[in-house]
Amino acid sequence: MNTTTNNNQSYDVLILGGGMVGLTLACALGQNTPLRIAVIEAYEPGDINAGDDYELRVSAISRGSQQVFMNLNVWDGMKRRRVSPYEHMHVWDSTGDGKIDFDAADLGIDALGHIVENKVTQAALLEQLKTLQQVDWLCPLKVESIDYQASGSSVTLDNGSIIKTRLLVGADGASSRVREAAAIELETAPYQQKGVVCVVESTKHHDYTAWQRFLPIGPLAFLPLGDGRCSIVWSAEDTEADRLVAMDEAAFCRELEAAFEYTLGAVKSVGPRAAFPLIRRHAKAYVKPGLALIGDAAHTIHPLAGQGVNLGILDAASLAQVITEAIVQRKDFADYKTLRKFERWRRGENTLMMFSMSGFKNLFSNDRTELSLVRNFGLNLVDGLGPVKYKFVRHAMGLEGDLPALARSVGL
Ligand SMILES: Cc1cc2nc3c(=O)[nH]c(=O)nc-3n(C[C@H](O)[C@H](O)[C@H](O)COP(=O)(O)OP(=O)(O)OC[C@H]3O[C@@H](n4cnc5c(N)ncnc54)[C@H](O)[C@@H]3O)c2cc1C
Repeated sequence: MNTTTNNNQSYDVLILGGGMVGLTLACALGQNTPLRIAVIEAYEPGDINAGDDYELRVSAISRGSQQVFMNLNVWDGMKRRRVSPYEHMHVWDSTGDGKIDFDAADLGIDALGHIVENKVTQAALLEQLKTLQQVDWLCPLKVESIDYQASGSSVTLDNGSIIKTRLLVGADGASSRVREAAAIELETAPYQQKGVVCVVESTKHHDYTAWQRFLPIGPLAFLPLGDGRCSIVWSAEDTEADRLVAMDEAAFCRELEAAFEYTLGAVKSVGPRAAFPLIRRHAKAYVKPGLALIGDAAHTIHPLAGQGVNLGILDAASLAQVITEAIVQRKDFADYKTLRKFERWRRGENTLMMFSMSGFKNLFSNDRTELSLVRNFGLNLVDGLGPVKYKFVRHAMGLEGDLPALARSVGL
């Protein structure tokens, strides 16, 4: 792997953005195709060292994403750093007796998923990427300008280099420059909420359970970490979220433990807090000739079901598969017809998830009595219907649906 740039290099595939999604695509293409690939990333990702405190940004990594990482030889690197399995999920409503439980044992598996710091995933992917000869890691470098052309694009970097490519991939997050350069429009709908995140220590152990309580102001999740603490995501209306971040630590602990019904006892301490605006975004197109968008560059959704990056990982695995198949069939891997297969495949799956999340958000972030009755009745009804409930959870776990080959397995 090369980590420097000379002027005027040229690649088959240029991935802008070395976050979790861009690196997944680079590893998948680097392992399965002869293509020359480069990843441009503005910030050198750090690694996790023993004794480091938990990072603020964590993701619930689904079984489907775990399978992709296993097939890319990345999962061992993630486990070696640290991942936190959860065996149970408990979801309940604050305005009634509605609740639903999921158990890994009922599915005959050891964990429903894992809570993993984004930094761990990125570091393990990068470690694997560095073993791949035909992939160059161009970092830390920022993109100054992009000249998108259907037949091949050029990207100018802040060190003056100009990189040419046959296929330009935007994995550059919610404010994607690639999307902008290709003049792809974006549908946006703010959820009018922010996600408040921090690491908290409670008096009781989390029991390897991902907990979520629906409050009228928004869902509050306690996600289990390896050391017995939890990473929380508390979604609340913008001004309420700002208040939660600004209040002093002791007052926040009291408010948090009460909002969580003292389920894990008292909250003893909290780490630094941050709030992220929650916006539903969906690019009107994922592809153009010679260009594709994946991950947050193509879509962002409410974090209430922990699906955002998992959709992006499946985008990356699906795009890699479509490109690989085109190469095997001696077709142009970057033409519109090839890339449209990826778009048709992923757009339907992502749209379904986005509308489900918006529906959940509206149903649950609401204290109207009739909605409260409906959701409490619905939660208990689904909880009592074993096969239906597990059909739903298998989809959310990335074990069902139209999955790319990298997400399928024998072992899970
Ligand atoms: C509060 C909160 C909780 C969440 N919880 C979950 C969860 O539990 N599970 C889940 O699946 N998802 C979750 N998500 C969503 C998840 O974090 C995102 O979907 C995921 O980080 C997107 O990854 P990405 O690689 O597509 O984009 P990013 O992580 O945004 O990566 C883009 C990369 O591109 C680089 N870049 C951008 N522009 C340039 C440029 N011009 N030049 C060079 N480099 C550039 C950036 O530096 C960055 O590294 C959550 C989100 C929020 C806000």
